[in-house]
Amino acid sequence: MSAASSVIIGGSIAIDHIKTPVAEGKNLLGGSASFTGIAASYFTSPVHLIGIIGKDFPQEHLDLFASKNISTHGLERSDGDTFSWSGSYHENMNDRETLSVAINVLENWTPKIPLEMTCAPIVVLANMHPINQLQMIEQLTCAKPFIAADTMDLWITIANDDLHEVLKKINLLVINESEARDFCKTSNLIVAGQTLLDKGPANVIIKLGEFGAILFSKHPDGSPATEFTLPGTKFDLFRCAAFPLKEVADPTGAGDSFLGALAGHLASTGKTEFSFDDIRQAVVYGSVVASFTCEAFSANRLAHITREDIENRLKLLKNLTHWP
Ligand code: AMP
Repeated sequence: MSAASSVIIGGSIAIDHIKTPVAEGKNLLGGSASFTGIAASYFTSPVHLIGIIGKDFPQEHLDLFASKNISTHGLERSDGDTFSWSGSYHENMNDRETLSVAINVLENWTPKIPLEMTCAPIVVLANMHPINQLQMIEQLTCAKPFIAADTMDLWITIANDDLHEVLKKINLLVINESEARDFCKTSNLIVAGQTLLDKGPANVIIKLGEFGAILFSKHPDGSPATEFTLPGTKFDLFRCAAFPLKEVADPTGAGDSFLGALAGHLASTGKTEFSFDDIRQAVVYGSVVASFTCEAFSANRLAHITREDIENRLKLLKNLTHWP
């Protein structure tokens, strides 16, 4: 196997305040890049974070990144306050509402990728404004980086054109099911998957929360259908279950962890072009790692697992979801 590749991850680094129906956590480590980076760190090295923090950002979180071998040279330090997000989960723990957002240092931020990282073969554009995602893409120097991006309902509403520009430039989009339905104006997720592929990326993953995820990959033009090609379509499909949890403490960051593990696994192969099988395997790692995130507030569980924990849960998920 070739040596693992480096990954750069741009996104938010946040202080979160989270309410669930049974508990509350304040001043927690949050942010799309934080969860994505920690998840990726179980699979590959180096993992570089690109983001911005304020003067109030606790040293203990920087220490946590350091303990996971995550490089923070691409983290800008500002005199302002760190981006902060407050969210509240409904009874079913799949739905949540944003209570407040303090944009703070993100307001006038332009991501700057340090020169030595601009040629990373795997690039993750975690959830952030699509304009920031485009600014990162413009700085990339690798001939053909594999770019995976996330988004959210806010950007679909206020930055739809920019998001469409991002979609033309990336290899993989991950999106929640409710966002996919809204974005594509359809209630049918298979139609949504096809519509999203038509907007540009060769691969689309629709995340279904506690029900797992669906991967759609464009089937190469002219090649015969495979056992994964959905009849009547031009894509291959993989339906991955979520790892079943008896208790969910806080799903915040599950989607980001999914993306981080997925990108980390792809980087660990050392390849720069990925087959449907590679991405399928990455989706399973994403599902498994996301499940750890849900078991405690913030990254309190995610940050304290081992690679062995991940492999054990992966085997169990396989037992639980396949039949002879
Ligand atoms: P997830 O649960 O995977 O969707 O990710 C939740 C994380 O996204 C939280 O830790 C938030 O700090 C972060 N977040 C929430 N809103 C935004 C936003 N508008 N831009 C960037 N990050 C955000």
